Amino acid sequence: MHENLDVFVIGAGVVGLSTAIRALEAGFNVTIFAETFPTDPKSISCASFWAGANHISVATTNALLHRLEADTLSIFLKLIKDQPLVPVMIRLHKEHAEVSGPAYQQQSDHVAHCYSDFRALDSSELPEGVVCGGTFSTIFIDVPKYLLYLMDRFLSSGGRAFRVKLPSVSALVTEKDRPSLAAFPATSTNVSPSFDPAAVINCTGLGAVSLGDVLDTNLYPTRGEILILHAPWINHGLTHHWEDGHITYVIPRQSDGRVILGGTFQPDDWYPTSRAETVKLIKERGIHAYPELLPPGRRENRDINDLEVIEECVGLRPTRKGGVRLEVSSLTVANKSYPIVHNYGHGGAGYQSSWGSAKFAVDLLKSVVKNDD
Ligand SMILES: Cc1cc2nc3c(=O)[nH]c(=O)nc-3n(C[C@H](O)[C@H](O)[C@H](O)COP(=O)(O)OP(=O)(O)OC[C@H]3O[C@@H](n4cnc5c(N)ncnc54)[C@H](O)[C@@H]3O)c2cc1C
Repeated sequence: MHENLDVFVIGAGVVGLSTAIRALEAGFNVTIFAETFPTDPKSISCASFWAGANHISVATTNALLHRLEADTLSIFLKLIKDQPLVPVMIRLHKEHAEVSGPAYQQQSDHVAHCYSDFRALDSSELPEGVVCGGTFSTIFIDVPKYLLYLMDRFLSSGGRAFRVKLPSVSALVTEKDRPSLAAFPATSTNVSPSFDPAAVINCTGLGAVSLGDVLDTNLYPTRGEILILHAPWINHGLTHHWEDGHITYVIPRQSDGRVILGGTFQPDDWYPTSRAETVKLIKERGIHAYPELLPPGRRENRDINDLEVIEECVGLRPTRKGGVRLEVSSLTVANKSYPIVHNYGHGGAGYQSSWGSAKFAVDLLKSVVKNDD
């Protein structure tokens, strides 16, 4: 155990919170520093607010991501078993494809390998225009509630948090450069830590693109535009692969009748709010792929205006050329060297790889702290 060692985590998205919880459980004194927290209004600078989210492995040829996703799946399954009130559930998901090209086949074979009850759909089960598909059970995460659950779990396990927007990692350990800190939650009586941490864990997501001493030019946003619908009658998820490569997806949430209808995957597009033409396209494709999104009794006309839209959303997935960055670097400030464990760049898979990444990062942390002893 590492009772006396201070560790700083930068970032309070799903990756930062999961990592901070694992570091606390390993015995470190953990303090989170972040610009946004789960209790804030949704902000474009935090991808975690906007995710669906479900667990559908995308790690076809990426061995590290496959391991992170598989570890996370086991932890979610255990969480559901041990804590039935956790806002994560198992539900049925369907995959539909309009063409069965090599890319779809590779993804489909991979999914069949990852989820134990996967079953290929019989041709009699396929809707018109769909040439193949499958069905399996997987994890669905009620994102707003789950982020609050993680925050609460971190604070109630003894973690501390401060709100701050950092220009760089070194600003955190340099008094003259440090922006003023606000205790989080505002009502807490957090005393400032020593500012001489044993290590810093960088979980800033897309924020790492402008963090002075990290400046990762491999990072870029993959813009995701989605709609939140009121459709409490929807009880299974869907991914519909269109002939033109577009993907429509549907993710029902837990108890409040909200359903995510997506969406877009737009690389290098930073536009932070919805575009009318994209909203229309998402609706049109949505009711074609999943007509039951329309309220019962209003399905016959297939009119997009009958969809009960609660919110139009845009989030920026923190995508990284080369994949997730899970490695250690060091930073020298005033002749002192600090290990930095990087854990960012999860693209569209941050929830489904969160616990696996947290474990990996904390194993790196333990190894560098041990080396320094
Ligand atoms: C539309 C959409 C759908 C998605 N669906 C899924 C899905 O179904 N399944 C799935 O697994 N994933 C999904 N994702 C991806 C997932 O949301 C991301 O991979 C994940 O949220 C990344 O989490 P993160 O903690 O790394 O980053 P973020 O959530 O962006 O958090 C970054 C944190 O760092 C802080 N920060 C950044 N810079 C600084 C700074 N300079 N100073 C202080 N604090 C800073 C921010 O304030 C924030 O607290 C989806 C994403 C989108 C947009």
